[in-house]
Amino acid sequence: MDRTSDVLIIGAGIVGSMLAYLLAQKGGSVRLLDRGQPGGEASGATAGLLTTVAEGSGKGPYLDLSVQGLTEMQEILPQLQAETGMDCWLESHPLYRVATNEQERDMMFSRYRELRDQGGGEEWREPEQLRREQPVFSPRLTGAIYSPKEYHVTPALLLKALLQSIRQRGGVVQENTKVINFLMEGRRVIGADTGGERYYADHVVLANGVWSPELLQLIGMDLPVIPLRGQLLGIALPSFQLPCLINTPRGYLVPKKDGHIVVGATQEKAGFAKEVTIAGISHLLKVLSTVPALVQARMDYTFVGLRPMSRDGMPLLGPLPGWEGLSVTTGHAQHGILLSGITGRMMTAYLNGEDPGGLWKHFQVQRVLQEKAETEGG
Ligand SMILES: Cc1cc2nc3c(=O)[nH]c(=O)nc-3n(C[C@H](O)[C@H](O)[C@H](O)COP(=O)(O)OP(=O)(O)OC[C@H]3O[C@@H](n4cnc5c(N)ncnc54)[C@H](O)[C@@H]3O)c2cc1C
Repeated sequence: MDRTSDVLIIGAGIVGSMLAYLLAQKGGSVRLLDRGQPGGEASGATAGLLTTVAEGSGKGPYLDLSVQGLTEMQEILPQLQAETGMDCWLESHPLYRVATNEQERDMMFSRYRELRDQGGGEEWREPEQLRREQPVFSPRLTGAIYSPKEYHVTPALLLKALLQSIRQRGGVVQENTKVINFLMEGRRVIGADTGGERYYADHVVLANGVWSPELLQLIGMDLPVIPLRGQLLGIALPSFQLPCLINTPRGYLVPKKDGHIVVGATQEKAGFAKEVTIAGISHLLKVLSTVPALVQARMDYTFVGLRPMSRDGMPLLGPLPGWEGLSVTTGHAQHGILLSGITGRMMTAYLNGEDPGGLWKHFQVQRVLQEKAETEGG
């Protein structure tokens, strides 16, 4: 077996798999290794929202990245679906960002004004208008930002299609293959060691989510990425169809093609404890108060995953200073599905010696390593 490739990617979550897909599309030879099942960690979350405003992305480069993230996904997904013949459940619905009390209403209304000033297509809805438009809503809601069209996808299906396309283009995907160390020649990383096998490549990319710091510690690097735990529920109510996406300050509801409604998601700093908890479920149940009919729904599944979150909450991309042949792409936190296309494109350009574009400088990993060195220095 040939164990060399142009690029070796460690971690087959959505971030690593999207990168492998985009590299393979450009004709590169890629090998993607995962210690478990591809998509078996954070990327298995079923919500798959591609919304840029739902969680309040603020302003500046991060908002620009998320807007470009959606554009990329709108380009990549139809192409991927056509190429593989696989449906990733890319859907669009209107989104209501609802307030459940007066305080939330004030917060929501000032957010609405910000969005309006940015020239978005959002509109404000008073409670009566809201109920007329969507009778499923609770009469207790105090207002909402209405957005006519927002997108979501089902990540497990997206991942399946990406892996099929990678393989069709000659790329290699290996599951149950845990990287335990790097292969090095001086300050150049030349591959990865799995204990049993050694894999060589011109470039190694770490895309192993919250476990990236673990591997980087082996070469003396301290990457500030921590797990942000997320729990969600899959519920269903026969003969009921949720006609829209709903976002509240506590969480969201996303209707899926198979009749499930995804209720997500908690955001918890709980270390590496990947557990569904009573506190998490009771938090999510509060989101259901926006649509009273849903208290009758059947609870079909729970999910928990660890989102990789950097110190400033933004992705960490690009070369690791002081090393040749080694890069990282992680820290996508709550928006890894939305941002996988745009960060994959920027990484592909960088790895192919092309210009990754104007946003690149804002997201390079170097920024957090510099911060750390400066903090240590005084
Ligand atoms: C409940 C929940 C809801 C979410 N909802 C949304 C949403 O609506 N929209 C959105 O955009 N994002 C959402 N996210 C965030 C998104 O899922 C993550 O940002 C994204 O999945 C991170 O992808 P990743 O590939 O970096 O990490 P992961 O999916 O964690 O993948 C990392 C992979 O690396 C592998 N790995 C680890 N160590 C090694 C090793 N040593 N060797 C080989 N392989 C290794 C792991 O097995 C894993 O498969 C949600 C997350 C959660 C938890």
